[in-house]
Amino acid sequence: MSKAIRMHEVGGPGVLKWESVPTPQPGPTEALIRHAAVGLNYIDVYFRTGLYKTALPATPGLEGAGVVLAVGAEVKDLEVGDRVAYQGGPLGAYATERVIPADRLVKLPDSIDFNTGAAMMLQGMTAEYLLLRTFKVQKGQTILVHAAAGGVGLILCQWAKHIGANVIGVVSTPDKAELAKAHGAHHVIIGHATLAADVKRITEGAMVPVVYDAVGKDTFMASIDCLAPLGMMVTYGSASGPVPPVDTAMLAAKGSLFLTRPTLATYTASRADIVKSAAALFDVVASGAVKIRVNQTFPLAEAAAAHTALEARKTTGSTVLIP
Ligand code: NDP
Repeated sequence: MSKAIRMHEVGGPGVLKWESVPTPQPGPTEALIRHAAVGLNYIDVYFRTGLYKTALPATPGLEGAGVVLAVGAEVKDLEVGDRVAYQGGPLGAYATERVIPADRLVKLPDSIDFNTGAAMMLQGMTAEYLLLRTFKVQKGQTILVHAAAGGVGLILCQWAKHIGANVIGVVSTPDKAELAKAHGAHHVIIGHATLAADVKRITEGAMVPVVYDAVGKDTFMASIDCLAPLGMMVTYGSASGPVPPVDTAMLAAKGSLFLTRPTLATYTASRADIVKSAAALFDVVASGAVKIRVNQTFPLAEAAAAHTALEARKTTGSTVLIP
């Protein structure tokens, strides 16, 4: 038997129950892994609340790191004992053991410990595609990053600085402002009440070519107003709630803006994309350009407490759950 968090209904953190479940067996193209650490991500909250749909009962979680216990007959490039990590579907990471399609796994470099591996895959590969593919950030550009002291946020700030961009971070508290500054943000704005005016002052009127906004409903229009003509609005999450329908004529009136709502699943749909994105992430982490900050750990059995902290904006950087 294994242990897993299971939810039989959607709702508050209390729906996350710690239960015994049969240890699954891998199919021909799958691997069975034992988690050493499981990544906590905001998307886990969306599944728990029902904003994103899944069949119930379900074990949440889309990220982990651990050791291969068994592989299916058709799996060629993994062996029992390999250290591995992954991000992405299917759900099921909040468990001591799980099966997963083997082609979702990457081998973890020896230099990266399990907690770091579990913390970095989903948030780090998100930063990779946002900065290198959704909008190719160039040296010398000034970019705007919301929730800059969060999991994705701290990685975005460091990686963008490494590229040579100037980062304006947006956070909610002075402590988070200090943290974002210590991780590559050149300027930090606390709160978004006067966001466009603040960005105008910092950029001396130029505004920014791209905004990375995963706060959603509360900041969408303020973010749009920070863009230079032909700028790109990247709305990639909904921590404050989903963005209401958009009047596309507004994009014309505000300067022929581009709007995208990307997801990591699209950018890592193929094995080739997973391998390339993970390699780029491992490179910046190995070089020290990006440091993964695991600022909170919780026992996996106490996933509900981790969700409560994440939703209350009490976490910074990344959080891992320990089985
Ligand atoms: P974070 O660690 O960034 O936590 C969320 C942060 O959002 C909070 O700390 C808080 O920072 C900010 N926030 C603003 N308003 C609210 C609110 N009303 N309630 C809660 N938080 C709020 O989480 P992650 O790094 O896991 O994810 C960041 C965002 O990126 C999420 O929206 C997530 O869905 C999205 N995401 C999208 C992906 C994609 O491919 N589309 C992939 C990965 C993540 P502060 O207090 O400073 O405002």
